[in-house]
Amino acid sequence: MVDTLIPEYVKRFTCIGGACEDTCCSGWTVNIDEQTYKKYRKVKHPEFKSRLQDHVVKNKHNPTPNFAARMKLEQSRCSFLNTENLCDIQLNLGESFLCTTCSVYPRRTNKVNGLLEQSLSVSCPEAARLVMLNPEGILFEQHQDKRDSFKWISADIETRGGSVSDWRSFFEEYRYVTISILQNRAYTLEERLLITGLMYSELQECVSGNKLQDIPDVLGNYLRCLEDGTFHGAFDEVSKRLDIQLRICRELVVLGLKHTPGSVRYLECSRDMMSGLGIGDEAEDKQIEESYGRAYAAYYEPFMQEHGYMLENYLVNYVFKNVMPLDSSSLFESYTRMIMHYSLIKIHMVGIAGHVQGLTTDTVIKLIQSISKTFEHSVEYFENIMTLVKDNGFMSMAYMSILIKN
Ligand code: SF4
Repeated sequence: MVDTLIPEYVKRFTCIGGACEDTCCSGWTVNIDEQTYKKYRKVKHPEFKSRLQDHVVKNKHNPTPNFAARMKLEQSRCSFLNTENLCDIQLNLGESFLCTTCSVYPRRTNKVNGLLEQSLSVSCPEAARLVMLNPEGILFEQHQDKRDSFKWISADIETRGGSVSDWRSFFEEYRYVTISILQNRAYTLEERLLITGLMYSELQECVSGNKLQDIPDVLGNYLRCLEDGTFHGAFDEVSKRLDIQLRICRELVVLGLKHTPGSVRYLECSRDMMSGLGIGDEAEDKQIEESYGRAYAAYYEPFMQEHGYMLENYLVNYVFKNVMPLDSSSLFESYTRMIMHYSLIKIHMVGIAGHVQGLTTDTVIKLIQSISKTFEHSVEYFENIMTLVKDNGFMSMAYMSILIKN
C-alpha cells in the first residue's frame, strides 16, 4: 500500500471502448514496454502470433524498459484497432496483454515528495467529461492505495531536503494557494487568473531579489486578501486591447497549424473557429476584432456565466497534473504557460461560438479534448509558443492581463 493523493473523479473513470467518439489508438505512437514485448514474443495463438510479428516493431536503436518496441500504425491507427474501434489484443488475449501505455492511459501518475498523485488527461473524451463537467468543482482525496494502480510514474519529484535557497522547496504551498484562488467563486474566472498572475509576479520578484524568506508571507497575504474581498474591483482598469490579444492568439493558431494535428476532431474545431472569426478569408484585422467582439458578447460570456466551472475544473486539473509551477524553469514562466493554454482554448471557444451561434458543453468538451490530444504531447509546440512569448517581450503581467481580460 502507498500514500496517494487523487482528485475524486479518478476513481470513476473507466474506458468506454467502442462507445468512445475518439480513440486513443489513433494519431499517437503506441510504445511497448519491455515486459509486454517479451509476452508478445511468447504468444502461441496462431493468428495473433503472426499478427504480432508483423505489427510490433522492435526498437533496435535506443531500447529502454518503457520503449522496447512500438505498434505499427496503419493510416495513423494502431494495427490492432478493429472496425468497431475495439482493441483486438484486449478482446482476444485479455487485458493483461495490454502494454503499459494502453493500460495506463489516460491516467498520469507523479510521485511528489514520496506521495503518489494520479490524475487524468483531458485528451481522452471520457476523462474530459469527468474532469470538467462537475459543477461542484474538483475535490481531492488522500488515502492509501494498492501500488499496482500506480505502475507507471511519469515524474518523480523531490522538493524537500534540497537547498534552502531553492524556490522549489515551497512547491506544496504554491500549489495549495494557486488551487484555492482558482476555486474561489466569489470572483470571476478572469479575476482569479489575474490574482494568480499578480501573486506569481510577486513571488518571482522574491526569487529574483534573493528574498526567498518572504515567500510564505506573500502566499499568506494572497490567501487573506482573497478571503476578505480586497481584490473585488481591483481589475476594472485593466486595459482592453483586443488588437494585441488577437495578434498573440493568431500567432498561437498559426504555430498550431504548422504542427501536424493528431486529431481529425481538432481539425474540425480549428476550421469552425477560423470561419467564426473570418481568419483566412483575407478579412481585415478590424473585421476579425468585430467578429470576435460579437461572438464573445453574444455567446461566450453568457455560456461562461453558466458553465464557468468547466474551465475552472480544466485549470485546476492542469495545475495538479502538470505539477505547476515545477513544469517550468521559473515561477512566472509556469504561470505564462498556463495562460497560453487558456488563451488557445478561449479563442477557439469564441470563434466556434461565432460559427455555430452558441456553445454547448459537448462542443467545449470536444474542443478541449482535441486540443489536448493534438498539443499536450507536443513538447515542440509549447516550446515554440514560449519562445514566441519571450522573443516578443510578452512574458509580463501587462500582456497576460490583456490575454485574460478580453
Ligand atoms: S480515448 Fe479514453 S474512452 Fe476513448 S478509447 Fe481511449 S481510454 Fe477509452
